[in-house]
Amino acid sequence: MYLIIACPRCGNYSVVRDTAKTHQCPYCGYVMRIEEASIIARAKNGKEARELILKLKTPRELRKRP
Ligand SMILES: [Zn+2]
Repeated sequence: MYLIIACPRCGNYSVVRDTAKTHQCPYCGYVMRIEEASIIARAKNGKEARELILKLKTPRELRKRP
């Protein structure tokens, strides 16, 4: 099982195994405990997790375009 979590410092989403205790944000480098991060979604595998992240990010990225 994979979790999609939001970084408590920068708010970006990243994927982490649900067995992990800590995770380093790839965007800002903050090392968070999984229990302090917001769990956005759960996925069965890495592929599903990446697809979920793409879906979650799409609206924000579309708004940036003119
Ligand atoms: Zn971060």
